[in-house]
Amino acid sequence: MLKATFPHIGNSYIPFRTLLTELGLDPVIPPPITQRTISLGTQIAPEFACFPLKVNLGNYIEAIEKGAEMILMAGGVGPCRFGYYGEVQREILRDAGYSVEFFVLEAPKTHPRELWEKIKRVFPRHRAPDLLRAVRKAWVKADALDRFDRMANHVRAREEKKGEVSRLQNRFYQQLDQADSMGEIRRVADGFLEELKAVPVRKESQPLRIRLVGEIYMVLEPSVNFHIERVLGEMGVDVERTIYFTDWVKETLLKSIYDPNWREPLLAVARPYLKNFVGGHGLETVAHTVEAGVNRYDGVIQLAPFTCMPEIVAMQVLPAVSRDLDIPYLTLIIDEHAAEAGIMTRLEAFIDLLYYHRNSQGGGKAGEAVSGY
Ligand code: SF4
Repeated sequence: MLKATFPHIGNSYIPFRTLLTELGLDPVIPPPITQRTISLGTQIAPEFACFPLKVNLGNYIEAIEKGAEMILMAGGVGPCRFGYYGEVQREILRDAGYSVEFFVLEAPKTHPRELWEKIKRVFPRHRAPDLLRAVRKAWVKADALDRFDRMANHVRAREEKKGEVSRLQNRFYQQLDQADSMGEIRRVADGFLEELKAVPVRKESQPLRIRLVGEIYMVLEPSVNFHIERVLGEMGVDVERTIYFTDWVKETLLKSIYDPNWREPLLAVARPYLKNFVGGHGLETVAHTVEAGVNRYDGVIQLAPFTCMPEIVAMQVLPAVSRDLDIPYLTLIIDEHAAEAGIMTRLEAFIDLLYYHRNSQGGGKAGEAVSGY
């Protein structure tokens, strides 16, 4: 059976493992991202490439060391560099002497026929019933992960015993990853959601509410964002992540096929500050920050990889959004040189500022939010 791998992005390795297994491949999950992964990728990537590209390359090398013979990677179109990520990664690996098959699977709306030809070539089990069963099983897992994570952030900010939600989350990931039949997947998902609801919480607490916005990879991958959701949650902050894997598939991959105006609601919210789609999640970053201001969140944290063009565009207008709507924000720009101590110091300073802002009944100078890097 052909050993296939793919880059890490958050907990998506769990549904991807199921998907590839069901389609007749032998999935090789890259080892968890460590400093070694990052330095392996950084050594062979161009210095000013986006940070996620470097980490992906490190994933591939470590997966090849575990026997991977083929890499699967999503393609893309649009104004940012993601559109040529796949090709660039293929060439970098070849130049570095790695001989491995590289398949870039484009979004269905771009070249549907080409995508279908690739699916037939890559996956041994590609008949319609096989595809449907595989996608359904993987989707149920992805959906369970997103439902759990959403609620986990809410409960974690109020948990009586610090770390309880994170421990439960780790056990949930492990058991969902091992669940095979649909019945078992549903049993694990429902059982852990019930356990999460039963975690003892501090009833009187009124945690700070923060929205997490930014580039999708930095938002979804805890090992590059320094586990920001867990860290903030255990500091008593209710974190609302604005990007979930299943939402991204539903909107960016599927809705965009039949609704050419699917971005209109985002554009309408962001319009006073940003009038166009700028690639990646730049538009979402601005729109979700505006919403956070209107809905009286305590603050916003923007996560951006160093040199990310869409997030750089968003950064230019966030000071105006912050000033107009009195919403403090923090931008964290992350690359291979970012260190945990520096990130923690900024987060702690930002949380202090938010308490000050809340206590001064909204009178703080939001436009002077702590900025990153
Ligand atoms: S969104 Fe940013 S980091 Fe991601 S590929 Fe585009 S430019 Fe690079």
